[in-house]
Amino acid sequence: MTVGALLRRAWRASVARLLAIFAAAALLGWWLDALWPLLALSAFAILGWHYWRLHRLLARLYQRRRLRDIDGRGLWDDLEMLLHRRQNEGRARTKRLLGLVRGYRRAATLMPDAVLLVDRDSGRIDWCNRQARELLGLGPQGSEGTVGAVFPDATVRAWLDVGQTDEPLLDQASPLDANVRLSLRLLPYSPSQWLLVVRDVTKLLRLEQLRRDFVANVSHELRTPLTVVHGYLDILDADDYPELGPMLDEMRKQSARMSQLVEDLLTLSRLEAQEALAHREVVAMAPLLLTLKREAQALSAGRHQIHVEDSANIDLLGSTRELHSAFSNLVSNAVRYTPVDGRIDVRFERTADGGAVLAVQDSGYGIPAQHLPRLTERFYRVSTSRARETGGTGLGLSIVKHVLNLHQGRLDIRSEVGKGSVFACVFGPEAVVERARGTDEA
Ligand code: ADP
Repeated sequence: MTVGALLRRAWRASVARLLAIFAAAALLGWWLDALWPLLALSAFAILGWHYWRLHRLLARLYQRRRLRDIDGRGLWDDLEMLLHRRQNEGRARTKRLLGLVRGYRRAATLMPDAVLLVDRDSGRIDWCNRQARELLGLGPQGSEGTVGAVFPDATVRAWLDVGQTDEPLLDQASPLDANVRLSLRLLPYSPSQWLLVVRDVTKLLRLEQLRRDFVANVSHELRTPLTVVHGYLDILDADDYPELGPMLDEMRKQSARMSQLVEDLLTLSRLEAQEALAHREVVAMAPLLLTLKREAQALSAGRHQIHVEDSANIDLLGSTRELHSAFSNLVSNAVRYTPVDGRIDVRFERTADGGAVLAVQDSGYGIPAQHLPRLTERFYRVSTSRARETGGTGLGLSIVKHVLNLHQGRLDIRSEVGKGSVFACVFGPEAVVERARGTDEA
């Protein structure tokens, strides 16, 4: 039956009952010759009955008792039946939601990572899973305290205060054992809570260290034999062995390439081993830009137009050796990936936030957009044949990225196929310093 039909049936039954009662009262009143008193009595009785039903319903609702599932015909029966249905629906929904919450909690408990729900304002830990208790040494449920007490380290505090959700915090010491290394990731759980996921990365970091040591050791071991081969090749004069001339040339080229590869690998290992620069000096930019120009001219051998513009009038703070290596990698790439008669611009400018940018722009081949995010990976090349032809090792941009990381800078790459590329090293205001008078003439 539809809702409308049910409602009509209830109204009809109630009105019929009312009319029947009044008709019976009128008949009895007429017979006893007391029509009005009996009609009034029946009206009071009906009113009393309604109050009694209302009282019974309210009492049940106040006491939060379950209503009965009545299959009556009157308005009150319908009301009770509808409220009973609502109660049942509400209970079913609560049960379903509880099941869902329990499911999520079970999933969070089974996760191999430590998970903590943290209040954004106070840092209070509202909930955590079993792994969090084991990994971070937290007490029994309900006595977790604040995340600041668990991680007293200032770096973690600053990271939490900023609410850094896009960058995980790598390699933090565990509060229980400094040899256990943790990675922390923050997720926005609700407008007032963070979800902090903590993972034990000790093994991962050890493997990473093993890889670094392996590459560094192999490169180091290769250095001496390569120097010997290089030395002997230099002694051999092509004029003495005319039939071996082309072969000797190729051997010299390949051994120079291998030496460059070994040097680049060693540079990368050295950069990777540093978390921060041990010493920051003033990097005089005017002479550095001049050196870059000379290097570019030597590499280009007159095949390109090379322009250097220095409008920043400030110097950088950091390592001259590393910054020189990064910038000259970019300049060398610009020369190598720009066809003859192309133009190369090196610009050193200030940025709006008070920092500085060194941009190397070329009018070369350009790079298709899909390659841009991967360019700084080791040995990543857009065109292997062109890179080999021009003598690249595939490690240049990796070195640039590492050097900039050490200077809290970043590499911005813009490129358009057929038009050219801009590689910009962007430095924050903390990496620049006023230029001392006289150095711009160097
Ligand atoms: P490589 O030694 O091969 O040049 P890099 O790490 O310096 O290695 O560069 C990675 C790749 O990025 C290069 O192989 C090249 O394909 C591309 N690339 C770098 N600089 C430029 C540039 N200025 N113009 C076009 N492509 C470039």
